[in-house]
Amino acid sequence: MTPIESLTIPDAPTIARWRDDFPILRTRVHGKPLVYLDNGATTQKPTAVIEAERDYYMHANANVHRGVHWLSQRATRDYEGARARIASFLNAAQPEEIVFVRGTTEAINLVAQSDVRGRIKPGDEILISAMEHHSNIVPWQLVCEQTGAQLRVVPIDDSGTLDFEAYERMINARTRIVAVTHVSNALGTINPVERLIDIAHAHDVPVLLDGAQAVAHVPVDVRALDCDFYAFSGHKIYGPTGIGVLYAKANRLKAMPPWQGGGDMIRSVTFERTEYNDIPWKFEAGTPNIAGAIGLAVALDYVRAIGIEVIGRHEAQLLADATEAMRAVPRVRLIGTAQDKAAIVSFVHEDVHAHDVGTILDHCGVAVRAGHHCAMPVMQRFGVPATVRASFALYNTREDIDALVAAMRKVQEVFGR
Ligand code: PMP
Repeated sequence: MTPIESLTIPDAPTIARWRDDFPILRTRVHGKPLVYLDNGATTQKPTAVIEAERDYYMHANANVHRGVHWLSQRATRDYEGARARIASFLNAAQPEEIVFVRGTTEAINLVAQSDVRGRIKPGDEILISAMEHHSNIVPWQLVCEQTGAQLRVVPIDDSGTLDFEAYERMINARTRIVAVTHVSNALGTINPVERLIDIAHAHDVPVLLDGAQAVAHVPVDVRALDCDFYAFSGHKIYGPTGIGVLYAKANRLKAMPPWQGGGDMIRSVTFERTEYNDIPWKFEAGTPNIAGAIGLAVALDYVRAIGIEVIGRHEAQLLADATEAMRAVPRVRLIGTAQDKAAIVSFVHEDVHAHDVGTILDHCGVAVRAGHHCAMPVMQRFGVPATVRASFALYNTREDIDALVAAMRKVQEVFGR
């Protein structure tokens, strides 16, 4: 691999051009320029995505798959075209491996209920990690309650790194699925997913990756990874809310029963018997989020045009700078210091609650997340009630880090420490 130093890091004029694509970044809050560092919660949208949704409603709105009329055919073409572009972004083998869902949460619930619930028995095991988002915990707890299976949790160390040896020990003949996050939203840890998948497959265990925090920041090639399921949300990759993707290998999708019943997921219905549609429509009951799917494809085109590796290099620099800057702030402790990290800096102030820090930062125009980040077990693991999280995206700058550090000085002032 080429060392990061020898690759070009995008320069300030390039970042300024990217920033121009995001109109919301011109907003002022409390009289200050917005410094948006809550990208882990959701990213901002470029004009191209906003325009694509608008354009759809202005010129192409109709229901899909069911109209003989011109507009419906156009909407269907755009919707299915979006699916094909998303498949290509992930390097899926075919568009039919892309199921549109509301987001990561729905994707994981779909796999839990449709794939795993039907083939898991009392005493079988579901393996997750200690750094999961609630969305990759609770759906499995539901399956365990429904079936008598057992949830097992691979521990993490004090830096927030997965205990790989424990993983190797814990996977066994009773494991029915491994469900782990690609990148942790609370800690920033990038998991060694290739190795995790290799080991799981050696045990004939399928793997679901929660890609919510990964897909906008690291290259994802589902065929190279050979993952069985990959879930992500459009809104965390510059796309609309209410749309997300479940990637699954075609043969798995074919073997899975439908999850929800309704229009579009059927081929024929009588009161006696219903014949289901082919994949992926078998899993898309009801009118889908057509505008959202089109907007998401445009967001992925946008990322692809810049290049995920280029974005990654920029964010790696931001992470290095932000980590150094925050380490120098008195009474601040970083939570999540794994070697392999995405641009997420989670921290606590030893004397000031995360919510108070977040409120003061907000008054300085700096938007961060303060709380448990829907990862309460991670907070418990580190013995803190909450953290403050600055999470970066392609449009963030060195100046944003300076604004964060300046706002942290304000925290010291206000709390007199
Ligand atoms: N997994 C991870 C790692 C996340 O960060 C999030 C969002 N914070 C989710 C799952 C859930 O995503 P959504 O709310 O879009 O379904």
